[in-house]
Amino acid sequence: MEKKVRVRFAPSPTGPLHIGGVRTALYNYLFARHHGGVFILRIEDTDQKRLVPGAEEYIIESLYWLGLQYDEGPDMGGDYGPYRQSERRQLYLEYAQQLIDRGHAYYAFDTPEELEQMRTALKERGVQSPKYDASVRKQMRNSLTLPSSEVEAMIEAGVPYVVRLKVMPGEEIAFDDVVRGRVVFQSDSLDDKVLVKADGMPTYHLANVVDDHLMGITHVIRGEEWLSSTPHHVLLYRSFGWADAMPLFVHLPLILKPSGKGKLSKRDGVVGGFPVFPIAWREGESYYEGYREVGFLPEGLNNFLAFLGWNPGDEREIFTIEELAEAFSLERVQVSGARFDYHKALWFNQQHIARSPIERLVKLVKPFVEDRHGPVEEEWLARVVDLMRERMQTLRDLAVQASYFFVEDYPIDEIELRKRWSAEARDWIEQVIRIVERVESFEAEKLAAEVKSWMREAGIKAGRILPLLRLAWTGTLKGPDLWATAELLGKERCLKRLHRFLRFTVERQTASKD
Ligand code: GLU
Repeated sequence: MEKKVRVRFAPSPTGPLHIGGVRTALYNYLFARHHGGVFILRIEDTDQKRLVPGAEEYIIESLYWLGLQYDEGPDMGGDYGPYRQSERRQLYLEYAQQLIDRGHAYYAFDTPEELEQMRTALKERGVQSPKYDASVRKQMRNSLTLPSSEVEAMIEAGVPYVVRLKVMPGEEIAFDDVVRGRVVFQSDSLDDKVLVKADGMPTYHLANVVDDHLMGITHVIRGEEWLSSTPHHVLLYRSFGWADAMPLFVHLPLILKPSGKGKLSKRDGVVGGFPVFPIAWREGESYYEGYREVGFLPEGLNNFLAFLGWNPGDEREIFTIEELAEAFSLERVQVSGARFDYHKALWFNQQHIARSPIERLVKLVKPFVEDRHGPVEEEWLARVVDLMRERMQTLRDLAVQASYFFVEDYPIDEIELRKRWSAEARDWIEQVIRIVERVESFEAEKLAAEVKSWMREAGIKAGRILPLLRLAWTGTLKGPDLWATAELLGKERCLKRLHRFLRFTVERQTASKD
């Protein structure tokens, strides 16, 4: 029988999740769900110096918002806990000791100055990237070069030390990456990685491998930037005697800048005007909006991110999270970097908005509208959403682009107004006022028919009058069907707005232009 799939998302709480991290979480989640397996959240907080307060809470809130519910984790419990590495310190030290006892690791007492001297000396001899390895360790102060009595005495006396992995030279380290196929490293290119730091905390490498093993992880699905750490991890599995039960490695492609050149960064978001974080993040004076704050539905973001490096192999593009889980496979994850395209993100979101039930959208859109325009009736909002939702790329769009449904002092696009105004315009608007006053039941079709029949009789082309009506009723030339908009606004408001429009054109002396 196949082993039950167990995967983990293992972020370090050193800051907010970047959307690259969100995609890693998503792929882990989809893979676990696809196989009826277990998805674990493990907080890798052993690098005490880089911890950022609030980052763990941020990560958890982001996963909750996205619906990437994990089965085991720090706030969930589970049989393999604790799920926060800082609470497992003793365990790592025991495993480090095992490696020392078996001769796979050793104590190193070199001070930062001594390490620096070593690097400088090697550079002078033409070594480009000097490292602490088999050729160097013989000249350094460690438990391989010093007599054991001295080593014991130093430890006893509290002299700071680290524990390093003893990498044997001349070995080939190969593994099969599920995305990239066979990957081969030469041990000569690897350094004797630090496993336990001077502060007594394990490094990422030790803690990560020990936990993946103890937590029964079957697939390590993570970003490409960890590929270069993998040979060290493989050596650790071998040194522990766990090589037979090693998880499969799956390195996900980088997310590239919109230009396609280089890795997507926080700055790209600032420059390009798009979020790079799932939810808002505050950092000193800086505030970054997340996808949630600009009005993405979680399913819109999930769908977009799923396609950044994967595709289902057919034409389908719009997926719910359950459909993604159903369709997902690691075999269809691409090797090459995935170019970030915000327009595509907006498109996915728009598709999901268009498919959402009105009642849900009303609840979600309401805070955006109220934030800008003050209290709004849900009943009214529901009618506006119904008319607008095909056009909404984000939940916020409605509040920003269709303020005319919520306030009377919506802005009027004066540039368009000047372009569209003509000598007869004033007279036309007055005619339309009379028609509107006359129309008994104020419905889109009736109103359209009346206005159009008058236009025909008077010989006025649609292109000359309708944009003006649109400007009068909404202030902008963009929007849903004109007559449906008028019907929703209602007779009284349409009349008031036509009068206001006339006053506005006089004030701006638009008429005197011709
Ligand atoms: N703690 C690492 C990170 O921050 C985990 C990498 C891995 O998944 O092994 O991404």
